[in-house]
Amino acid sequence: MNILILGSGGREHTFAYQLKKSELCDTLFVAPGNAGTEAIAQNLDLNVTDFKAIEKAVVNHNIEMVVVGPEDPLVQGIADYFSASETLKDVMLIGPSERGALLEGSKERAKEFMAMHNIPTAAYESFTKKSLQAGKAFLETLQPPYVLKADGLAAGKGVLILEDIEEAKTELENMLSGKFGEASSTVVIEEFLDGIELSVFVLTDGKNYKILPTAKDYKRIGEGDKGLNTGGMGAISPVPFVDESLMQKIEERIVKPTVEGLQKEKINYKGFVFIGLIKVNNEPYVIEYNVRMGDPETEVVLPRIKTDLGKLLQATFQQKLNTIDLEIDNRAATTVMTVSGGYPEAYEKGKEIKGINAIQDAIVFHAGTTIKDGKILTNGGRVLAVTSLDEDYKKALKKSYQNIEKLSFDRMYFRTDIGFDLS
Ligand code: ATP
Repeated sequence: MNILILGSGGREHTFAYQLKKSELCDTLFVAPGNAGTEAIAQNLDLNVTDFKAIEKAVVNHNIEMVVVGPEDPLVQGIADYFSASETLKDVMLIGPSERGALLEGSKERAKEFMAMHNIPTAAYESFTKKSLQAGKAFLETLQPPYVLKADGLAAGKGVLILEDIEEAKTELENMLSGKFGEASSTVVIEEFLDGIELSVFVLTDGKNYKILPTAKDYKRIGEGDKGLNTGGMGAISPVPFVDESLMQKIEERIVKPTVEGLQKEKINYKGFVFIGLIKVNNEPYVIEYNVRMGDPETEVVLPRIKTDLGKLLQATFQQKLNTIDLEIDNRAATTVMTVSGGYPEAYEKGKEIKGINAIQDAIVFHAGTTIKDGKILTNGGRVLAVTSLDEDYKKALKKSYQNIEKLSFDRMYFRTDIGFDLS
């Protein structure tokens, strides 16, 4: 069958890399894609939230499966658009309905869902401009640091963690007055949880689920997890500190009630659930839900899945995930992201990338790249992710770093300490 992947990052290149190997895949399309996807698939010049243009492409290219990479089309209802259309309803769209996507699109909704289904998470309350005084009073009842979250999507910037109560009150007021636009017209204030973070990925067909490999990502630009937040500077899978007992707690207390909760609320959900967790005294708590795979976590999770990804996704759409075995590569996977100098603040694009052909025993997943006159150029903040597999994460990391040395572009930067907090 012909498959279309929506998105243009390292995550989508990884999906393309795995789907290309599927027995079910005939022609693979990526929209809009990057230089990496161009090499293994056909890029389509489409905007991922232009549903009409996507519909046209699906019809023109006889596409039978659409895999949605980023959250925006999901939050805007692409799954509902497909299921409501006579022409598109049988196309296997992988991603939740708009109601399902609200678990990521609204933090207040996610917290209500967790409260309703008894899923462990930080204590919280939410406030609007009308309840500003109550919000300030609620802050007084908490211990520092104070966690303030814009309810809506704010490109990963909508969470403030503040030590000082006066600053927290001022920021609450700023947020409710539009600091993050409409996204912060409601603010969730929650208890700070002190622990170590990890992510669990679940593929669900709405009834059955498969737990995919765990991963840990490194979000800050600087060594030692310092400096500004980025889209992600590297990731490791599996997470070495997750033992069987913790995994069992995660499955029983979080994964099962999440899938059952979706079912009880009659939410159409055929896709990935990315659960951001924090481990406090060996107990797991949910920090956030995302309704799609993470980037760069995908670059370490998917390469460890041995089962044919096309078949897994087909079974997801057909609600037959219970009939398929998930086979995982026991090796560890690591990825290290190279970024444009200056990122996540201002940076330049259009720098020629050299050395990709010299990579050995590692996989280069393209993120912000483009191809012009046969040359591969930088085209974004995050540029290339170098993924390696080996018997443990330290060996895999060594391979990723040895290979990064072969890559170059003007002002290339990467973190040299991915995994620093694990040993
Ligand atoms: P992302 O950019 O990953 O989508 P987000 O902006 O949607 O994140 P969250 O994941 O909810 O927001 O929070 C961002 C980060 O803030 C978390 O990864 C975590 O490090 C920290 N954080 C959030 N909530 C808490 C909490 N209750 N206690 C401690 N740290 C927290």
